[in-house]
This record gives sequence, C-alpha cells and structure tokens, in this order.
Amino acid sequence: MTITSFEELALAAPLKRALFEQNYATPSPIQAQAIPLLLEGRDLLGIAQTGTGKTAAFSLPILNALHQDPRPLRRKSARVLVLTPTRELATQISQSFATYGKHLRFKHTLVFGGVGKNPQIRAMQPGVDVLVACPGRLLDHLNEGDIDLSGVEYFVLDEVDRMLDMGFLRDVKKIVAALPRKRQSLFFSATLAPQIKDLAHSILENPASVSIAPEKTTAEKVAQKVCFIDKEAKQKLLLQHLEAQRNKGLTIIFSRTKHGANKLCKVINSHGFESEAIHGNRSQAQRDRTLAKFKKGSLPILVATDVAARGVDVKDVTLVINMDLPNEAEAYVHRIGRTGRAGAAGHAVSYCSPEEHEFFIDIEKLIAQRIPVDSSHPDHHEELASLHAQGRTSPLSTRDNGGKTRGGGGNRGRSRNSAHLGQRTRQPNQRNASGRSRRRSRA
Ligand code: AMP
Repeated sequence: MTITSFEELALAAPLKRALFEQNYATPSPIQAQAIPLLLEGRDLLGIAQTGTGKTAAFSLPILNALHQDPRPLRRKSARVLVLTPTRELATQISQSFATYGKHLRFKHTLVFGGVGKNPQIRAMQPGVDVLVACPGRLLDHLNEGDIDLSGVEYFVLDEVDRMLDMGFLRDVKKIVAALPRKRQSLFFSATLAPQIKDLAHSILENPASVSIAPEKTTAEKVAQKVCFIDKEAKQKLLLQHLEAQRNKGLTIIFSRTKHGANKLCKVINSHGFESEAIHGNRSQAQRDRTLAKFKKGSLPILVATDVAARGVDVKDVTLVINMDLPNEAEAYVHRIGRTGRAGAAGHAVSYCSPEEHEFFIDIEKLIAQRIPVDSSHPDHHEELASLHAQGRTSPLSTRDNGGKTRGGGGNRGRSRNSAHLGQRTRQPNQRNASGRSRRRSRA
C-alpha cells in the first residue's frame, strides 16, 4: 500500500499540526517508506541523499517516540544522538527538529568544532532529549567526560559516505562503542560502497532497507551539445538552428549583454522569425507582456540576458541556445534549466568561440560532464575542438574580459594556476555529479 498523505501515518497530532503549518501535503518517497518502519522500532538502512526529505523521515518518528514516552533527562546525556559530518548539516538537522517538534516539549542542542566548548558543556550539563553532533568535537567531549552516551535510545548516522570521505571512520567507531547495545539505529548514505556496508552491518540489527534513487540534476535531464565556432559565424548557425526548430516548441536564446540581445532580435526578425528580448533596459511592464506572449505560445522565440531570465518558468521551452557563454559557470546551469521542465524533453546548444574557451572549460568542470561536440555544421572549428579534446586551452581565450579581447592563454594547467593566484578561484565542484546541489541546480 502506498502512503499518499501524512494523515495515513501514525504520527502524533502535534507533529501533524507542525507538518500542516509547513505546508507539507504529501510524504516524500523516503518518508512514506521509512516512517512506518521506524514507528515499528526497526533499524533502518537508508540509501538516500540530502534533498529527498530524509531529515523529516528520521526526525518525525523519533520525535513521535519521545512524545509517547517522555522521560526525565539524565545529566550530560541525550536520548537521541544524530551524528552528521558538517556543521551546516548539523545546524539544518537541529532546525528541522525544532520545526517539526514545535508543538512538543523537548530539549535539543548542537555540538560541533570551530566554536567554544564551554557553552556546549553547559548545554549538556542537565541533559537533553536530542543531541545533533559532528564526530570530532563529540569525541573530544566524550574523552573529557563532558558528555555521556550511555543513555542513547535512538542513534542516527547521517551522510555516512561523506563522513568517511572526511576521514571520520575511526571517530565514528569510537562513538558507536560508547553507545548502549540496546537502541534503535538509523544509517543514511548516498552510496553503499563495501566499506560503508561493513560499517552498516556493525551498527544495525536486522535493519529494514529503503533506497531512493537520486533525482536527476538539470545537467543530466537536458540533452546538451556544444558547437565550436568563430564568433563571426555564430549568427549564420543560429539562423540554421532556428529554422530547424520552427514549430517545434519555444526557444530561449541567451545573450551576455542587453545590447547583444537587442541586436540579435533585429537580425532574427529580419529573417522572418518572431522574437522579442527581455533584459534590464526594458520596463517591467514590457517584460511581463513579452513573457506572457511567450508563455501563451504566441511568441516562439525569447532573447534574454541572464538576469532577465531568472524565474522564467515556461513549460514548453524545448530549446535553449547559448549565443555566447556566460562568464559564470553557474549561470549555464540556470540557463539550460529553462528547458526540460515538468518532464518535457529539453535541448541546449552552446556556441563556443576560441575567446570563450575557458568559460566552457569552467562549465564542464562545474557540471562534471563532457558536453558532446556537434561537428556537423559547416563552420565547425576543428582546431578549437581538437585543443579541447587534448585538454588544452585556446590561446585566444581569456577569462577576465568576457572573452572579448584577445590575449594570453596557454595550456589548461597554466590557466588553472592563474585562477588560483588571484582572479577567480573556484573549488572543483562535484555537486551536480553527486546530485548534492540539486536545490541550486534545479533553478
Ligand atoms: P532534506 O532532504 O531532509 O534535507 O529535505 C529537503 C527539503 O525538502 C527541506 O527543505 C524540507 O523542508 C523539504 N521537505 C521535506 N519533506 C517534505 C515534504 N513531505 N513536503 C514538502 N517539503 C518537504
């Protein structure tokens, strides 16, 4: 039987009230599957990542249990221990407990490194119901006798894969050794590598398993391609692409500048297409009118700058064309996220000139994907394509000037170093690959 509403779950009324106030109507798949098992007292192995609603999946049944079986607090002790790898996650989880448990009486606190120990020691003195902690600092407190884990009834080990990546395995094992044997344990990881499986077996007793496939990221949902091409040849290619797209759904063309967007509209319209631009120099009323026509389907082509396109949520956009590449890789994900919405098939084609090559390299790095090269058009820039394939950077490419002027360059190694030396530093970003930053990439 599939659970389709929170009403069907055996949660106490104050919890349901809090969910109602949060406007949660339907349990997410992990909630629908995990909550009944946890309410039965089962141990749980959950393969799921952040964004699936797993925090509510574990905190609701735990809060329910605390509510049904209130007990006096024990000094330095906690009834619930949630172990999570980062401060940010710890803070979010603690806030979730507060939100879902707002109509219950319970005490909770946070323990993590990088801040003073004394307030944490003081908060733990009288004991708490729920302790959310990161392993390193919790272990310090344990070793110093400031926290006692012998009263833990519910133990949640969250984001285990990240925990191990961060080198917390030994700390976690020491903490688990300090827990009582009789407890209910919940174990969450996005993946189940052998080492993680072993750890799960050592912690859980006859667990139920729930596995939630990660939601596809924008970059995975949209069919992307790149055309390597000289700047001067882009317009011709654009007209060809627009011709091929006639009567096949709505198109958004991205231009980096307002001036470029206006110019492009004129050119497109002079070739018998119908387009309008939205950008910061048009009044809100003009933009709204254009957008309304586009949404209705009476305007097939929208030419937009990045800022103007934020929040454009139109279902039938089947093609996004990046006339020029954004100088911020994140903007690329926002742009292509305008298509492929609500399950529709989405395509995105990007025109990359030698001057923009580094922007393109940044984009592939951010989405952790190679974008297929379309070499079937007459102006295919083979030299740039082969440089790219070899992992080298076009000598014409520069990051600093929006790819407009020609200048230095060299190989990719060199350009990455220069990024570290000052102008633009970016962490190697695996977020989309791991699906972890879906909130942002969904855009
Ligand atoms: P989590 O995976 O626990 O980090 O949750 C991801 C986001 O989904 C959080 O912002 C939650 O507030 C939200 N959320 C969790 N469960 C539900 C639900 N059943 N309905 C709507 N939003 C939810």
